[in-house]
Amino acid sequence: MVARHAIIAGSQGYRWVHRLGGAAVLEPIRTPFGLSATIRLALVGDLEVMVISRHGESGYEVSAPFVNYRANIWALKELGVERIVSWSGPGAIDPGLAIGEILVPVDIVDETRGRPSTFFEGRGIGFIRQNPVFCPDLAERLRRAIETRQGQCRTGDVYVCTQGPRLETAAEIRKFATFGATLVGMTLAPEAFLARELEICYCPICYVTNYAEGVVDRPYQSGELFEGMLTQEEKSKADAAIEILPEIILDALRTVPDQRTCPCARSMERYRRRGDIGDDWRSWISK
Ligand SMILES: [Zn+2]
Repeated sequence: MVARHAIIAGSQGYRWVHRLGGAAVLEPIRTPFGLSATIRLALVGDLEVMVISRHGESGYEVSAPFVNYRANIWALKELGVERIVSWSGPGAIDPGLAIGEILVPVDIVDETRGRPSTFFEGRGIGFIRQNPVFCPDLAERLRRAIETRQGQCRTGDVYVCTQGPRLETAAEIRKFATFGATLVGMTLAPEAFLARELEICYCPICYVTNYAEGVVDRPYQSGELFEGMLTQEEKSKADAAIEILPEIILDALRTVPDQRTCPCARSMERYRRRGDIGDDWRSWISK
């Protein structure tokens, strides 16, 4: 059985899958880039959806710089997935954001360093336009689903993706603010770019987890979560957002049509027309 939709879940994703009764575990997918993370097939009502827990299933085994993004995206393509909703809990650079607020960012600044970020090593292909960087169709459906549950959904947010696993310095956060970034996280790059290379629709949904360094005045507290950057009240608000996030994603996925008309589905068309690539996407990858 295959599902055409996938959710790449954050560190809390496995708890949700577990509540669904565990969902079926698929055989690990061996890819040219190594083994993918565990993939589960969940049946939620009439909707089939693949779920990957990006950081592992027992907590936080793999930090963001060491997630095998290429293996995960390759495996989902191999399984026939056409649309990915990616779940992320970034920090807020814009103090106007509320903790627990759910939104769909509109753009990304890639500040990662050294992560393998393309399938096309050693090939002269992959100059792909990144505006819109996220699937516009999925983004619109997710925003509507958020509005229904939350009453409103902010637009125009820019997510800066840092290397991690360390958190950012206050000076770095001030620098990112000058770029126009309003959110900071560690996971959407290169995931979004890799999905585009394989013509998979990709869109993130974010819940604000905390305020980034220096945005609000927080004393250093040794031994606490984020060393005191997050209050218990804020943590409760973020946890409440995590509870409704899967339902919002499923609401949005239930509305998607069978046929894709967005540009993501043909992002490699220029190379196809030129005869540089064939119909079998596996042959696009040199490895
Ligand atoms: Zn799309």
